[in-house]
Amino acid sequence: MIFVVGLTGGIGSGKSAAADCFVTLGVPVVDTDAIAHELTAPGGAAIEPIRQAFGDGALTAAGALDRAAMRRRVFADPAERTRLEAILHPMIRAESEARLRRSAADYAVLVVPLLAESKSYRERVDRVAVVDCPEEVQLARVMGRSGLSRAEVAAIMAAQASRAARLAIADDVIANDAGLAELRARVTELHGRYLDMARARGAGRETARNR
Ligand code: ATP
Repeated sequence: MIFVVGLTGGIGSGKSAAADCFVTLGVPVVDTDAIAHELTAPGGAAIEPIRQAFGDGALTAAGALDRAAMRRRVFADPAERTRLEAILHPMIRAESEARLRRSAADYAVLVVPLLAESKSYRERVDRVAVVDCPEEVQLARVMGRSGLSRAEVAAIMAAQASRAARLAIADDVIANDAGLAELRARVTELHGRYLDMARARGAGRETARNR
């Protein structure tokens, strides 16, 4: 089984930017958010189960998950969120496992935005890397990118694990409060360490097998 680094961070911390750095270094990156989007795009594997559970009103005319409608529904009724997650989470998990299995490399990165909130993903990964920056920087980045107001971004941040809770689960912290060149340098340094860890584990298994 491939060595897996779980990559997480709060909204706007720079998870995608850090993941791109790993891709540039040739590391396979499996992104649970991207998988969720694929599953809920027109023709995606989650569309039919969602239609059966929630009706056509949960879908757009093009046949994708209607995110705005669903957001209103799960906000109004938490049981609806549980029902939606019961469909999506096992599918996301199965697809990410399939992609990790297909990864031909010393190690892979699994991007899980809510890793601090998810014990089962934490148990799945060998190492946790947290992309971290001050909350003020998160606010500025997300406001700049999305057009959301400060209060709206703050509300999303308040619903996520706190910065301290994320740092508490980190084996490695990827500080992302400077420029992209600094981020690349930090990821490159970690990449060398992850290669060593993955190879050491592989060598340990080989020795055990030959005993
Ligand atoms: P989300 O949780 O919303 O998916 P994320 O954690 O993946 O966000 P990114 O999308 O990587 O965060 O970054 C948020 C924004 O900040 C992007 O517009 C990105 O280009 C920018 N950004 C990230 N890191 C840096 C950096 N070190 N310097 C400058 N801009 C950055």
